[in-house]
Amino acid sequence: MIKSPRLKLMGILGANVLGLRHLSIRVDPVMGCNLACRMCYFSNAERRKAMKGVMTSAEMSEMSRCLFPRALQVVVGCAAEPTLHPDYVALIRLAKRYCVPHISLVTNGQIITYEHLEQMVQAGLDELIVSMHGVTKPVYEYFMQKSSYEAFVQRLDWLEALKTKHHLKQPSLRINYTVNPDNLGDLEGFFDHFGKYDIHTLQLRPMFENDGIYHRQMDAGDEERYRALVERFKVIARERGMQLLANMSDVHYEQQSKDARVAEAVYCYVSPSTAGHWGGSWKGLSFGRYSNVSGRRKELWGAIISGRGGRVGNIGKSQIL
Ligand code: SF4
Repeated sequence: MIKSPRLKLMGILGANVLGLRHLSIRVDPVMGCNLACRMCYFSNAERRKAMKGVMTSAEMSEMSRCLFPRALQVVVGCAAEPTLHPDYVALIRLAKRYCVPHISLVTNGQIITYEHLEQMVQAGLDELIVSMHGVTKPVYEYFMQKSSYEAFVQRLDWLEALKTKHHLKQPSLRINYTVNPDNLGDLEGFFDHFGKYDIHTLQLRPMFENDGIYHRQMDAGDEERYRALVERFKVIARERGMQLLANMSDVHYEQQSKDARVAEAVYCYVSPSTAGHWGGSWKGLSFGRYSNVSGRRKELWGAIISGRGGRVGNIGKSQIL
């Protein structure tokens, strides 16, 4: 309802100063991945070597105390695979303890154990987001190097079985599919292979350059096919009562957005090295002090004064269709 980005930013600054919920927090408790997807920096040997760090349980607990009471949303997993952390389920429990309204986990699903999945279902996880880059075994395993198609399918089966066992509707299932010219054809058969699952949301994201070993971007012909496919999926989504998210407006992630600063102002990324960036620690850190040492408040003021838009990468490029 509020059109002016400046007014939105002032509201966010107000929420920040008063300590109200306004953040969308993404937490990577560990900077590693069990896979090496071709479109991802984890397939790049140099980048992979540089990705390091694990949050201790004490850090997770102190970080949660500081940030989670200000969160509207906590997403566990962002730029790495959270289920490699031995205690990642604790983050779901912490988010629940601080009454975060929406809690998600983003994962490739490959190594989640049945026990951990059950613990998350029981802990109140709202949404399980699984990434896939192919709907058939050859394409899935080609793009998601080191993966097992069967392991992925098994986790989807477990999720359905656990929800039935505990008489729960949550966590809802969201599938994120990264589209490129060589897996676009595979996507055509998505509902033939995965239509039997109770999918709440399907997100289609054209690939953006991410320092991996695969670089082909969609050309005009691919883009036309992609758009036609999204139109077809829109009809299916309506019939199924499923939410479809797709980037249709800026397929090559080139446009500026007037709301980029607003997205940045609510976006809060936490990794094992976050506290090190400002030379501190989460221990005993108040939210006010965090906002100052991290430069959050200063950036907010700067954005309000400049009133300019900016680029926002791949965040917020998908529309609900
Ligand atoms: S895309 Fe996700 S699952 Fe694949 S290598 Fe990157 S972080 Fe891991």
